[in-house]
Amino acid sequence: MVQRTAHSLSNISAASRMDPVEAWREGVNVQAAYNNPQTQAAVEAALIAMVAKTLRYLDYSRTITADQDIIDAVEHLRLEFPAMKLEEWAIIFHRLKTGQYRPGYERLKLPELVSIFQQYEGERAERREATWGELKKATPNNLDDEQVKALYEQYAQQRREAKQAAQKETQVKRVKTDERGRWDFIPYPNTQDHEPRGAMVKKVDAVFSQYVRLRATDDTGHGECYTCGSRRHWSEVDAGHFMSRACMSTRWHEDNVQFQCKRCNGFRSGEQFLFARNLDAQFGEGKAEELFIESKQTRKWTRAELEQMYHHYKRLVDELRSSKGL
Ligand SMILES: [Zn+2]
Repeated sequence: MVQRTAHSLSNISAASRMDPVEAWREGVNVQAAYNNPQTQAAVEAALIAMVAKTLRYLDYSRTITADQDIIDAVEHLRLEFPAMKLEEWAIIFHRLKTGQYRPGYERLKLPELVSIFQQYEGERAERREATWGELKKATPNNLDDEQVKALYEQYAQQRREAKQAAQKETQVKRVKTDERGRWDFIPYPNTQDHEPRGAMVKKVDAVFSQYVRLRATDDTGHGECYTCGSRRHWSEVDAGHFMSRACMSTRWHEDNVQFQCKRCNGFRSGEQFLFARNLDAQFGEGKAEELFIESKQTRKWTRAELEQMYHHYKRLVDELRSSKGL
């Protein structure tokens, strides 16, 4: 065991290019190697180095950086996935590095790592099931190794193709949906009374943005950025969102959206921290959290509601402009 572990550790970077089946069959169990006092330190060091190097290489803006956090993450993964082999860890982190696990995460922290490990485990279970089930049926006593291998490859290929076909299908489905993920077909003629929903949403966005910016200005049309305080003309600023515009329940929430300079809203990605602090200062402690929770609710806006909202804010904008002479 000690020798096998030492061998595995010294070949760990080569192991990252191993076939997953081979890694599972011939690899060294991480937990067992860790529990052996003779190899514990070396195993832990190798795993920590693997995780730290990968995270540094990937350079996510939101990730685990502190040494202690990396040590904790390694321990968590080791205990959570006791069946994993050293070689499998190497494969997973190699895949992460080469972009094979890039599920569009903005962040890469422990929960994302756990889900990647789970995904790998799922693939392994699938592989084993297929191997066992199909190979057993194929009367192993009259097949030699080469035939079994060929058979396995054949099933693996079939599964890959099925997976690709399934992916293609979801891609097609994604093309024609609106921002709520619904089919974007219009069941009636596209008349003035029945504008496409997407266009209606854009109109509400535009008028709501005008309202948010105009309500914060003085008679000269200038106001202060909600997050940096710089003085700007309303025509050159944004209506900045605290919780993203993608959250439909707070997309047009009057507190969630504020007069914000383009520097804060764009280059500084909305300054969400300062935004939260100022929301709490203005509306009372807990306001930011309240908006955060509300933003996670599902909210479906009907066409009638959108139209109503458009007229409501259109009227407010007209009033503001005439009262401020803008
Ligand atoms: Zn600003």
